[in-house]
Amino acid sequence: MLLANKIALVTGASRGIGRAIAIELAREGADVVVNFNQSEEKAEEVAHAIETIGRRGLAIKADVSRTDQIEAMRKQVLKEFGGVQVLVNNAGVHHHLKSWEIDETEWRRVLGVNIGGVFLCSRMFSPEMRENKWGRIINISSIIAFTGTDHEAHYGASKSAVVGLTKSLALELAPYNITVNAIAPGWIETDMTATATVEEKKKALELIPLRRMGEPEDIAHAAVFLASERASFITGQTIHVNGGEVMY
Ligand code: NAP
Repeated sequence: MLLANKIALVTGASRGIGRAIAIELAREGADVVVNFNQSEEKAEEVAHAIETIGRRGLAIKADVSRTDQIEAMRKQVLKEFGGVQVLVNNAGVHHHLKSWEIDETEWRRVLGVNIGGVFLCSRMFSPEMRENKWGRIINISSIIAFTGTDHEAHYGASKSAVVGLTKSLALELAPYNITVNAIAPGWIETDMTATATVEEKKKALELIPLRRMGEPEDIAHAAVFLASERASFITGQTIHVNGGEVMY
């Protein structure tokens, strides 16, 4: 197993990509903290699935845009696990709006979760990694960070910021043997993309050379690799998991 006895924390792990990452990390031997904000029942189901695999799973509620709630989560994690070695900053929100429809409250809401959460959780959970001279931080960005978008500029800005923050954290934390990387998913079948119309999906599919939408597990497998020893010489990078939709 690639992650035997590691402790991982996945933000936004109650559903979608975060759920798949939490379960795949557990399959590779990690105990996993399943962070959620609203979907308590679903997060408990994920924690239960992890226990069924034979690892420890613990659901903890915390809004990642709120310092006080992340601090409370950190206290609980320290008490129960003594710290985390793998942090996956996955929690994200979006809202289809033209830029002129985005008011300050909406701007702050999306930026607060999508980039604020990445910064706050990385800051809060890296001290033990620094102390132990080993750690992995994996941030979930988006294809939109690279292509732009004509319907959610705040989301696009937040996901570009994740790529920038990943590089700076990678430089700062490299002396502590902590790698920091991003994954930029393309179209992945989750609640986030479920509201798309048949027409929108058809158009999107035509742009994907591999001619299928991604599954949450496609992202989870990349996350497991980045968390493992096999990726120990990779830091500050973004892995594109998008069926070939954009190539760099
Ligand atoms: P999703 O199905 O909508 O799930 C979002 C997850 O984030 C849920 O578990 C939700 O938890 C959690 N979350 C939202 N706000 C939170 C907060 N303030 N604090 C803590 N957790 C919070 O989305 P997804 O498709 O799995 O997306 C996961 C990540 O991948 C996001 O960062 C997204 O931007 C990125 N991404 C997705 C796609 C795609 O095509 N799906 C493409 C590119 C990038 P609760 O339900 O408990 O609130």
